[in-house]
Amino acid sequence: MTIQISPRDVLVVVDVQNDFLPIGHLAVADGDAVMRLINALARHFTNVIFTQDWHSADHISCASQHESKAPFETIELAYSTQMLWPDHCVWNSHGAELSADLDIPHSQLIIRKGYDRAIDSYSGFQEADRETQTGLAGYLSERDVGRLYVVGLATELLCRLDHH
Ligand SMILES: [Zn+2]
Repeated sequence: MTIQISPRDVLVVVDVQNDFLPIGHLAVADGDAVMRLINALARHFTNVIFTQDWHSADHISCASQHESKAPFETIELAYSTQMLWPDHCVWNSHGAELSADLDIPHSQLIIRKGYDRAIDSYSGFQEADRETQTGLAGYLSERDVGRLYVVGLATELLCRLDHH
């Protein structure tokens, strides 16, 4: 089946940042394999949006902030059980930057998520407390867009962790 992309459709490119690529602090194995595909796909879309994981150095999801905790252990937070990660996607770090291999100059918007020290973020729409909105839904509704397509990283990472 061939999908016809309309000028109103939107491609959301999730977290294609250095830290989630094989060079990064929280690498997705073969993460850079998606790059060429994402660049090719993005050429079919008028509307492309990036999400960017964006944490303070003392972010609550970082194992380094919790005494005697290691990455991939969990803690209990008010909103849920939180997996602890290696320090990653820290404000203004090289790891937080979107990959330089992305070739999508017509992208319109970068939604940063996880910027609140006390709340982690996986969704591009909602922080992990399931209350704080990133603003993406509002943007899409104001722009009156069509279908939404999502590509990117790090679902693969979560799948990989499930096998541990
Ligand atoms: Zn993060």
